[in-house]
Parts: sequence; C-alpha cells; structure tokens
Amino acid sequence: MEQNHSNHFDNWESHRKTCRELSHAMASRAGARVSLSKRTSNLFRTRKETEAKKLDVRRLHRVLEIDPEQRIAEVEGMTTYEDFADATLLKGLRPPVVPELKTITIGGAVSGLGIEASSFRYGLVHEMVEEMEILCGDGTIRICRPDNENADLFHAIPNSYGSLGYILRLRVKLLPASPFVKIAHQRFPERMQFLSAMEAVCTPGPHAPDFVEGVAFTPRDFVLTTARLTHDRDPVSDYKGMQIYYQSLRSRSEDLMTMRDFLWRWDPDWFWCSRSFGMQNPLLRRLFGRWMLRSSSYWKIQSLYRKWKIEERVHAIRSALHLPIERYEPVIQDVEIPLEKASEFFEFYFREINIRPCWICPMRPLEAARNWTLFTMEPGALYLNFGFWGSVRTFSEGATGHFNRRIESIVQDLGGRKSLYSTSFFTEDEFWRIYNGDAYKKLKEKFDPRGAFQSLYQKAVLGH
Ligand SMILES: Cc1cc2nc3c(=O)[nH]c(=O)nc-3n(C[C@H](O)[C@H](O)[C@H](O)COP(=O)(O)OP(=O)(O)OC[C@H]3O[C@@H](n4cnc5c(N)ncnc54)[C@H](O)[C@@H]3O)c2cc1C
Repeated sequence: MEQNHSNHFDNWESHRKTCRELSHAMASRAGARVSLSKRTSNLFRTRKETEAKKLDVRRLHRVLEIDPEQRIAEVEGMTTYEDFADATLLKGLRPPVVPELKTITIGGAVSGLGIEASSFRYGLVHEMVEEMEILCGDGTIRICRPDNENADLFHAIPNSYGSLGYILRLRVKLLPASPFVKIAHQRFPERMQFLSAMEAVCTPGPHAPDFVEGVAFTPRDFVLTTARLTHDRDPVSDYKGMQIYYQSLRSRSEDLMTMRDFLWRWDPDWFWCSRSFGMQNPLLRRLFGRWMLRSSSYWKIQSLYRKWKIEERVHAIRSALHLPIERYEPVIQDVEIPLEKASEFFEFYFREINIRPCWICPMRPLEAARNWTLFTMEPGALYLNFGFWGSVRTFSEGATGHFNRRIESIVQDLGGRKSLYSTSFFTEDEFWRIYNGDAYKKLKEKFDPRGAFQSLYQKAVLGH
C-alpha cells in the first residue's frame, strides 16, 4: 500500500513538472505555430511539412493513479490504450471504450472521437471522461469539467483534433473486467436481416451483450459478432501468431479469448489490412510475425510509402517506359450513419466503393451528447459506424478525391457524420456549416487568440 502511495506521489510530481515545462515552452513560442511530437500516430491524412515548433509530450505516457473503489483512473494524455488497458486489467477493471488499435492514445481518441464495440452501451470514448487538463495556446493549463468555468472548452475538445488545446491529463470512469470474453458469430446472407439482428442485440436491457460489431464481407455475406464478459475457463483462441482473427468470423460460430486478447483482436492484422503487406502469407507470418503483427508496424511502413512518394515514382517509371498505369484513389474512412439509413448506405457502398470487408460498429450517444460542440448526434439514437480502409480504381487522371467526395456527400444526405482522421475534401463553407463554425470561431478566439494551433479546417482538410 505504502509502495503504491509513493508511486502515485512520484507520478504526480513528475506529471506536474512536465506540465510546467510544456506551459513554459508554449508561452515562449514567440509567435510560432506548435505541433505535437509523439512516438506513434494513427492519423491517415498526409500532413504537409510545416515550420511548427514541436512540443515534446512524450513523457506524458503514464497512468498516474487508479482508484478501484471509485472505479476512476487518472491518466496522462499521450498514454496508449495498450498501456492504459493493461494498468486497469491488473486491478480487475477496464476502460469502458477501448479503441481497437494498441497505439491510439487516450488524448488522440478523445480529440478524435474514438469508438469500439462497446459504444452501443457507453457512447464514444470522451463520454466516459469526467475531467481534462488542457494546455492552451497562451501556455495556460486549464482544468475542464462539464460543470466548471471551463465547461465550454470541455465540450469543444471532442472532434477538435488538437486545434483548441492539448489534453495533458484525463480523469476517466472504469468498469469491471473479467478474465475471459465469450464470443458468438452469426452469419447473414442479406443486409436487412443483418441490420434487424444488429438492432435487436443493441436493445438496452439486462440480457444485452457487452460488445457488438459486424463485418460485411460481400453484399451477401454479413457476420454479426456479440461478446460477453465471462469467468468460464475453457481453451482460448490466440490470434497473435499464425491464426487470423477476421478469418475466424466465417469459420467459427463461437470463440473464447482472454480479455486482453479480445481488446486487441484487430491489432495484429490491422483489422484485415495486413493482407496488403503480405502478412497473411503463412511463411512471411512465421518469419516476420514477431515484429510485424502490430498495427503500429503497418502504420510506419504505410507512412514511409507516402513520405517517399513510392506510388508517384512507380507511375513515373511506367510512364517513361510507355507502360499502362492503373490509378487508385485511397479511401480510408470511418463514417457514422443512423441505423434507419444504413441499408441505403450499404446500397451506395457496394455500388460505388466496394472495399471488402467493411467493419460495422454500432454506437449510441449518451444523453449528454447534446452538449458536444463540434459535431451533432442524436442522444439515444443508434448509429452504425462503417470503417473501410483501402483504395478504389479510378479512371480519371487529374480529379482527386472523387470517391471520397461522394462519401462526404452521401453521409450528409443520410444525416450521418464523417470522421476527420483521414482525408477530407469539404469546401470551407460546407465544413464550417457541418462542424459548427460559429461556435468554433468564438472558442478559437477565447482559447487560442494568437493562433498557436492550426484550425480544424486547416488540419482536417488542408492537411497542415
Ligand atoms: C486504419 C484505421 C483504423 C482506425 N480504427 C479505429 C477504431 O477502431 N476505433 C477508433 O476509435 N479509432 C480508430 N481510428 C482512428 C483513431 O482513433 C484516430 O485517428 C485518433 O485520433 C488517433 O489517435 P492517436 O493517439 O494515434 O493520435 P495521433 O494520430 O497522433 O493524432 C491524431 C490527432 O489528434 C490530436 N491529438 C493527439 N493527441 C492529442 C492530445 N493529447 N490532445 C489534443 N489533441 C491530440 C493530434 O493533434 C492529431 O490532430 C482508426 C484509424 C485508422 C487509420
């Protein structure tokens, strides 16, 4: 116990020291813009190189304290969900919503609207946050709660992507965990049956599962997965080596995993995107699996590919050799659609985008959702998040973003919401109409009057 207290004390001391240094660095930035220097990222927009001053936040990566009685964690903003979940599991607890990729940080997930298969119960990641400590553009650190003098900043942080301030620490609610998770997969040959079953299992009540998600493999092959916490001990599956989780969805109807493995079921194969890296080949998997089977490895390779403009170089060589060039538009998006419009979205999706498979995660905003400033969702309504990460063959040479724009427009027509972690093509007027530009402008004037951070539009659409 004493040991615990002295650890907590050291953690807090070191946290306060880092915060003082960051506050000083921010206040003395002398007009320069700032950006985060951190170890990992899950952003998928190409960021233009800027002159911004890098703020080194790498030391803010710890869980400061967990109170098992109150089921509360105090956690630093750059803590990865892998570290956060591990610390809570040790105490028999878990964060209510754990985004699927290990290196997503809690600050990134709160400012970028993190979601998971428990979101039909607990909403988005930020809905379980009670307090945030935020570094503003003038170097001030503000403690923000939904009911204190900084409530306006608290409510504007979700979907702000670091454009209003950086989250240094959060106080987050926790839930009881269990050693194992029992999983059931059900297949449907038709989307309306799949959607009705999805709606039924997401209905609140004592028998509702703990986790729900789905995968559309083809327009005639849907899998609905439900999962429940359990203490039952049976042989467990392991998808961190030769077995591939997403393939098990079509070959098994039941499964059992440890809680930790369940939380990270999508990480070793980056959902299914490991396919493009050859990592579903048994030989490569055996040879390189130890280093490669992590979402962060794929992300690093992918970002080098973009940085070194490999595709452009290949095209230039083929063009010089008068060889035909196949052009693809990257389409890496997560969009949320109200359940009643999901069938329409599927129709559009398989007709025009058709990246297979597609992840489908139900989400129900909690009552307080009315208060979030930078996006609108109906509290209590059920939405489906469609996640699709790939590319679509394009026949036009010059026009960029044709398919991404189509998605933006359909999502708007269907009353949905598009995530901003990847490329966006909105015009500035459109963007601010959707993301509450009037309120944003006032918040920016209040919390970042000297423009330390790029605006949300500059970040999300212009790639600054
Ligand atoms: C293939 C793919 C699959 C994905 N799947 C999921 C998923 O299943 N569930 C899910 O929830 N999300 C998913 N995401 C999206 C991911 O959660 C967001 O991109 C999230 O913002 C990434 O957080 P990060 O910690 O990696 O932050 P980064 O990628 O480093 O940064 C993201 C943005 O958040 C800002 N930011 C980061 N930390 C802070 C902070 N402490 N305070 C304020 N602003 C900050 C940065 O300035 C930046 O604009 C996926 C993304 C990809 C590419």
